[in-house]
Amino acid sequence: MTRDRTAVELIAIGDELLSGATIDTNAAYIALELEAIGLRVTRKSTVADAEDAIADALRSALERTGTVITTGGLGPTRDDVTRSAVARVFGRPLEFRQELWEALQRRWARRGPIPETNRVQAEVPAGGTVFPNPRGTAPGIAVADAKLGLCILLPGPPDELRALVREAVVPYLAERADASVRRPFRRYLRTAGIAESAIAQRVGSALDDLPVDVAFLPEIDGNDLRLTAWGSDESEVAGALDRAVERLREILGAHIYVEGTAELAEVVGAMLRERGLKLAVAESCTAGLIAKRLTDPPGASDYFWGGFVVYDDRAKIELLGVDEATLQLHGAVSEPVVRQMAEGARSRSGAEAAVAVTGIAGPAGGSAEKPVGTVWLAVAVGDEVAARGVHIPGARDAVRARAAQGALDLLRRVLLRGEGSRGVEGMINDH
Ligand code: ATP
Ligand code: MG
Repeated sequence: MTRDRTAVELIAIGDELLSGATIDTNAAYIALELEAIGLRVTRKSTVADAEDAIADALRSALERTGTVITTGGLGPTRDDVTRSAVARVFGRPLEFRQELWEALQRRWARRGPIPETNRVQAEVPAGGTVFPNPRGTAPGIAVADAKLGLCILLPGPPDELRALVREAVVPYLAERADASVRRPFRRYLRTAGIAESAIAQRVGSALDDLPVDVAFLPEIDGNDLRLTAWGSDESEVAGALDRAVERLREILGAHIYVEGTAELAEVVGAMLRERGLKLAVAESCTAGLIAKRLTDPPGASDYFWGGFVVYDDRAKIELLGVDEATLQLHGAVSEPVVRQMAEGARSRSGAEAAVAVTGIAGPAGGSAEKPVGTVWLAVAVGDEVAARGVHIPGARDAVRARAAQGALDLLRRVLLRGEGSRGVEGMINDH
């Protein structure tokens, strides 16, 4: 039988994974890391902390695939039986490794004498390769057999597992892999203010002649594009990826806010920093979400002045100087009010720029004229104010998240326009 040498199976071990008390996040992490070196996870199973169950799962996985990674069950307690199950399947005794025992003793030194029960953690199926685990007590272990295949044992705690995968398992498997194995190389483009279907329609068949796959990844506050090209080496596919990015930039223009994976708030923050502007925010329905996002990146005080959370009408009047008659005439969720909020935030803070948002997040508070999801956004830069109304579908959390994203995006577009690109109106489509 010729095996697919790029296939890998995962076995997650632990009663807590079966009961639902713990979610198997390790498998997702491993799969993504392996994909980057051209290996595919073809099956994953979850089994109890029971030697027979582990041995059964391992035997069938080895038969099918020949390369298996187990996670969990390497602790010092009686229910940790992965080592002995693997030793049994490979027909090897467990071998005591003095250097592992000494490392364990050093780890324990500050806590007092190490319990004898920990000795099992110094045991390795005979001939196994050890991957040291400085973050925990159980090392990773690779056991290889010419006929049976390869099994890599990893500890369950996610932080230990991730470090071991990154630092030991990926290099180990990459070394053994066929040099001609094709793996994915990726680029990301992030968009705001344009619907997924509108992107798809505009892109049409523009990339069909390139060996590049485009995936549309709708996020709650925008649509990301993931470009993938497969090759055995980056240089093989870099040209095609560059061309695809270039074409998408032509097609989508200012809807793209970044190439890469940066957050919109980081992009906007960098634009403000570059221009030497300070920003104030006036938030009604988002109540601080925009301020939170702008201050997620460190160093935000370079461009963030602070803000006003103005929920009640009185707060809009007293903190921002919104006109009471305007509020009564148009309602708090209206273009005149959002404009006054932005102007008030700018003038009262003394910052060069301000962004404001007011809307109906729901579930209550909507009307025929202003249904739930009606949101007004405004940006003031100097004496100029740009405002925009949107209808945002979805539940309360989604409305608030998208309102914050929409406000940051409006700010970005106003700052871009300052550089002679097209006007704000007509550049933004509804979600
Ligand atoms: P330890 O030496 O800590 O006992 P171990 O290899 O025996 O390590 P487990 O006892 O199986 O690992 O799990 C340790 C911790 O890691 C537990 O809190 C468990 O919930 C968590 N964990 C185990 N497997 C996974 C998994 N697949 N995904 C996410 N968390 C996991
Ligand atoms: Mg354990």
